Amino acid sequence: MESPPRTTLGGCTLSRSSSLSPSSSEVERESAGSSGGDPVVSLQEWQAWGTASPVPAMVAEIVEDMKSLERDIDAQMSFGGLGGKLQGDFKVYEDKKHRAKYQALGDSEQKLQFFSARQIACRLLGSRDYLCQKCWLPLEDCMCSKLMPCSLWHGIRFWLYMHPKDFLRQNNTGKLLWQVFGVHAAALCLYGIPEHEQIMWKAFKLAGKDKVWCLYPNKNAPTKSVHDTFSQDSSPGLECKLNMTNGDNTLHFVLLDGTWNNSAAMFRRLKDRANEIWGEDLRCISLATGASAMHKLRPQPSWDRTCTAAAAVGLLSELQLLPELSSFGFDKQAEAVEDALVVLLDALTARRLRMGRSISRRERHKSDIC
Ligand SMILES: [Zn+2]
Repeated sequence: MESPPRTTLGGCTLSRSSSLSPSSSEVERESAGSSGGDPVVSLQEWQAWGTASPVPAMVAEIVEDMKSLERDIDAQMSFGGLGGKLQGDFKVYEDKKHRAKYQALGDSEQKLQFFSARQIACRLLGSRDYLCQKCWLPLEDCMCSKLMPCSLWHGIRFWLYMHPKDFLRQNNTGKLLWQVFGVHAAALCLYGIPEHEQIMWKAFKLAGKDKVWCLYPNKNAPTKSVHDTFSQDSSPGLECKLNMTNGDNTLHFVLLDGTWNNSAAMFRRLKDRANEIWGEDLRCISLATGASAMHKLRPQPSWDRTCTAAAAVGLLSELQLLPELSSFGFDKQAEAVEDALVVLLDALTARRLRMGRSISRRERHKSDIC
């Protein structure tokens, strides 16, 4: 079940929120730097999008291939239209080429890696000089100056396990976590990108299976609440788990950042890997408080527990309720993420109003923040 959904092969959707009708400047965009001379993807450019990892080799290769295809067929890459897809003559050639390559790949792991790398490459090319690299909003709507950074307590680390289709998406909320806490405390791990997954699993192996949890909102999965996990389950004892002055006792929490369907596939991949390494399933943790933790947010039906940043808020709020943890400032840290969510919603709403276009029901549905 790890092969990517067929529908995703058709094109590369850019990060522009589909709730926003295209302005004239958005309808058609040529890929920045396509006239040549730029490094394909520099380390600096790559890391500025929110990661501390090296440039993924396959992403660089695909960007290079697309650039050389552009030269070979003398058709400029352009992105635009609703959904911000690759378009025009270039798209026709590139479609044929990437489909042939995908078909020729031997196994589902290679196919997944190619699918992910191509999604990332397309998003990266189409977003250059268009999106702010930090907040992933169009430059004219950059919200960075309104965000307040905050330190996450040093004993925990978040991993945003993100589906490639959510990478550089304007209404993605996972990005808020590293904007608030920094790229080390809240690390991006792109699904199907080996460089990212290796970094994450290396950290998990070091930490050990009893210090890694996946926050999974599926009620059917065997999960434990925050309270049960840290109050009863703890054979070494919570104090021991959290008495971390030697730096190696970090608790790792994976947040799945993708649509419901994609998250299921992502969770399976994590589970399989955990079984390979530890011979048992990844531990899951669920939130008990749900919407009540989000009392400060204005009514927004889609901001439920599947919203990645809201899930982090819920987790931090529940950790705060444990007497042993009450002095680590999780309430302040939860509040910082809540505030960032409000800033993002305001920025998206202001943009929508400024564009002054009506939003169809279908588009409104697609614009739901998650
Ligand atoms: Zn910005």
